[in-house]
Amino acid sequence: MKTILIAGGTGFLGSHLSKRLLNDENKIICVDNNYTGRIENIESILSNPNFEFVEHDIIEPLDILSNIDQIYNLACPASPKHYQGKASIYTTKTSVIGSLNLLELAKINNARILQASTSEIYGEPLVHPQIESYKGNVNPIGIRACYDEGKRCAESLFFDYYREHSLEIKIVRIFNTYGPFMNVDDGRVVSNFIIQGLKGEDITIHGDGSKTRSFCYVDDLIEVMIRMMNSEKSFTGPVNIGNPNEFTIHELAEKIITKVNTNSKIAYKDLPLDDPSQRCPDISLANNKLNWKPVVELNEGLDKTIEYFKNLIENEGFIL
Ligand code: UDP
Repeated sequence: MKTILIAGGTGFLGSHLSKRLLNDENKIICVDNNYTGRIENIESILSNPNFEFVEHDIIEPLDILSNIDQIYNLACPASPKHYQGKASIYTTKTSVIGSLNLLELAKINNARILQASTSEIYGEPLVHPQIESYKGNVNPIGIRACYDEGKRCAESLFFDYYREHSLEIKIVRIFNTYGPFMNVDDGRVVSNFIIQGLKGEDITIHGDGSKTRSFCYVDDLIEVMIRMMNSEKSFTGPVNIGNPNEFTIHELAEKIITKVNTNSKIAYKDLPLDDPSQRCPDISLANNKLNWKPVVELNEGLDKTIEYFKNLIENEGFIL
């Protein structure tokens, strides 16, 4: 049994990770300030004796005295809707100061630490699909910079702790991921389209729908994160993790309209600034080093996600 600290443990990915690692017979310390996470996401495990929830903002130092074996850093607003505007400075602080605090905690505990980095570090990519050696094309002063540059700085900090303090680090670059337990107000494209479809509202496509994304189902992503954390010591990453099947946003909208069986119509809206045109991971490194590739196709994953949002309405009386 390992003691594993998960920062961002009540969020979309963090709550899945908490449940999976608890189920694998580990002791979990879940740290979150519930800025975008929700206590409801971890309700089913709150009373488990091997699970502890600590309400804390990682931009403040952590004084957790346990023998921590592993730390996952997933704490950061991750949806453009949440990290832009009034949360932008806070987002940079969370990525940079939050990472520093967790790296210090890892150093004191001699723990292995994994950083949830992002495909956003590639910015508007000029290389397609994106491979880890590509250094990216980020607008450093744009509205996405708080997230992109914050995550880039965190990668840099991780490598400095690796070089200066011989810390055992792991970096994964997460591409678009979806599934149950996304927030209803998350604002990202998959949950937005499903909820709009269920409500019979317009499906809001930004631009003409020709932008692309590659969507990974959450279970596939959690599996590879755990494989990465437990990989051979010398493999630091960064490693891309995501599903390489690429779809236009228009294709996604059509799929969801059919699956939800809704009368919703497509409404074309203005494009947000700095919205990357295309995004698709080259996952050869994850495939070679971690013997991993995603197994859940978009059709199956969408069915499960639609089911989740439908149940949320029926069982929790959730008003859409
Ligand atoms: N998008 C859209 N309608 C929405 C939400 C998003 O057309 O209601 C587009 C968005 O402009 C982007 C893509 O879908 O081109 C993916 O956006 P998301 O916010 O899900 O994630 P991103 O990859 O941009 O971080």
